[in-house]
Amino acid sequence: MKDPRDADLGMDCPITRRDFLNGMALVVGGSLVPASLLPASEFASYPEKAPDYYPPLLTGMRGSHPGSFEVAHSVRDGTFWKQAGPAADTGEKYDLVVVGGGISGLSAAYFFRKVAGNNARILILDNHDDFGGHAKRNEIRGRGRLLIGYGGTFAIESPAPYSTIAQGLIHELRIDVSSWHRVFDPTVYSTLGLQPAVFFDKQTFGVDRLVRYTLADEKESSGSADFTQQPSSKFIAEAPLSNPARQDLARVYLEKKDYYPGLSSEEKKARLARSSYANFLTQVAGVHPEVVTLFQNLPQPLFGLGIDAVSAQDAWGLGLPGFEGMGLDPAPGPGMNRDTIPNKEAKEYFFHFPDGNASIARLLVRRLIPHAVPGETVEDLMTARADYGRLDAASSAVRIRLNSTVVRVRHLGSPDSATETEIAYVRQGKLHTAIASQCILACWHVVIPYICPELPAPQRAALSDCAKVPIVYTNVALANWTSFQKLGVKSIYAPGSYHTAVNLDLPVSIGAYRCSRSPDSPIIVHLMRTPCRPGLPSRQQHLQGRIELFSTSFETFEREIRDQLARALGAGGFDPARDISAITVNRWPHGYAYEYNSLWDKFWLEGGEQPCVVARKPFGRIAIANADAAAYAYTDAAIDQAYRAVQELLARG
Ligand SMILES: Cc1cc2nc3c(=O)[nH]c(=O)nc-3n(C[C@H](O)[C@H](O)[C@H](O)COP(=O)(O)OP(=O)(O)OC[C@H]3O[C@@H](n4cnc5c(N)ncnc54)[C@H](O)[C@@H]3O)c2cc1C
Repeated sequence: MKDPRDADLGMDCPITRRDFLNGMALVVGGSLVPASLLPASEFASYPEKAPDYYPPLLTGMRGSHPGSFEVAHSVRDGTFWKQAGPAADTGEKYDLVVVGGGISGLSAAYFFRKVAGNNARILILDNHDDFGGHAKRNEIRGRGRLLIGYGGTFAIESPAPYSTIAQGLIHELRIDVSSWHRVFDPTVYSTLGLQPAVFFDKQTFGVDRLVRYTLADEKESSGSADFTQQPSSKFIAEAPLSNPARQDLARVYLEKKDYYPGLSSEEKKARLARSSYANFLTQVAGVHPEVVTLFQNLPQPLFGLGIDAVSAQDAWGLGLPGFEGMGLDPAPGPGMNRDTIPNKEAKEYFFHFPDGNASIARLLVRRLIPHAVPGETVEDLMTARADYGRLDAASSAVRIRLNSTVVRVRHLGSPDSATETEIAYVRQGKLHTAIASQCILACWHVVIPYICPELPAPQRAALSDCAKVPIVYTNVALANWTSFQKLGVKSIYAPGSYHTAVNLDLPVSIGAYRCSRSPDSPIIVHLMRTPCRPGLPSRQQHLQGRIELFSTSFETFEREIRDQLARALGAGGFDPARDISAITVNRWPHGYAYEYNSLWDKFWLEGGEQPCVVARKPFGRIAIANADAAAYAYTDAAIDQAYRAVQELLARG
């Protein structure tokens, strides 16, 4: 559908974008061609072996890209087995097959191999055209420059400290987390005086206005506009809010009132755990609804939910205002989410690669399959080009088979006594089987009941409970960032806009990769969208968001991106038709692992059995990993759960 604004927005400008054709796409001779259109050759059945097969360079719709989910959805819908032809037996036998090539699956292969030895035969199957799961690398090349972005997992960071196992793996991969302060240069933006800002959009706030987010105590805000500290009176005066809302925005920080007098700290926390922060603000603190609208999307980066669906107790943990006069004991209360319990040790364990934790995935692949990711150091990894043709070589003990959706995993015989499992997967439209002595399901838990129906019914129900949180990480390559400089902003919180966060790339230089230091040089701008539906229960919000993401075209994303950036940055001279050189939308309908929430999950508040504990039980020769197994949306969970799954299989023998 064309829009009258399309010409101004540059919708027809020749940028790197709609490159992804149906299904698998390959870069051949500089242009992108679907595998099915290639001449009948070796590459038609092994597209990954084509010399230019290089998914990080693909732009347009990535994440759960076209071609990655259709088979799994037809298994879910019950149509797959009605149409499936006979399976071709690959004749391959493995010690271990891992379903899912994310950090959990790759770590599982790594841990298993450490015990079973380098000759252990391991096959990792993944439905995407690239490895890493959510930890995906995006590359954009333009004007002779390589820009690296993260298509998912942003950083080594976790609200709770990394376990010994997870830290051990990071250490073995030779990632020196303590070197963060040497690779990150905050002066790139601070010397230019760039600040966070809030973009108030016309549809929500009556007028389009970008307001720099300055603090009342005149300290510089280091991160984004997160409203954990009192904004300055200048910010409040410039914000397009009504006068009563402005007064309440100041009051909620200054009032310091005990809204529950006469209750103990414990009793107060119990109440806060059962009330949404939005309700607390309006009904208890009597804050104007416009302030609630302003705060609505603040917890989205953590939970994919707004303050209508996050408890007041969790808002207190996050440092949001309204609790200073409540006399709350600083210890976490029952039902608090792990993300909102402050932990200094965990905060200090932080590292961000330009491609996020795709670097962890790439380091794991380098260990598992020598030469697939050339080089030896973390520094040379940054610009190393993975050789996808080597991932699935018959000569290698470990193989990674991409573009392969697993549709069935079963024991050959009774789960108690079987000596083998059979894994059926679809690749290039054809059904194949392979045999494995043992199998680890490191894929999304909601998929498992469909592909492994022999699991006990309560376990299948628990696995189905782990439906993930939809989220979008969009990378937009700009020819320059002079508009940000002119406006004095480095990040934008946009509570009413399509993407609620816009951030200039973190200035990180590692190895030969150098960050963009000068406003007239190209850069990646990172945008985030969580397609939630305020007012619904949390899981319903996620379901509706998932449906939205699977049914939104790239064209719609592109128009929204161009429109939003033009409106927010136009006063700084930004022209979307001129300045945008590429767009990569990393769409994750199955994004974060679902984390339990005191508003919606009674067992979490009252100490009942968590579904993830039931879901992850081993079954015969099959063990279950993935971050879902911990109901914790972090890389350390993916690693820890991989380790546990491997131990379970090794213990069984
Ligand atoms: C946008 C985003 C940002 C994040 N940022 C951070 C962060 O900054 N720090 C952090 O610690 N964590 C972050 N996380 C969470 C972190 O990415 C995950 O906890 C971790 O990467 C999960 O790894 P995993 O291997 O368990 O799952 P995944 O990465 O999801 O990997 C599972 C793989 O299994 C595949 N699969 C599913 N079904 C099948 C099938 N039938 N056949 C074959 N393969 C299948 C999936 O497609 C996927 O590739 C983020 C997550 C998202 C989505």
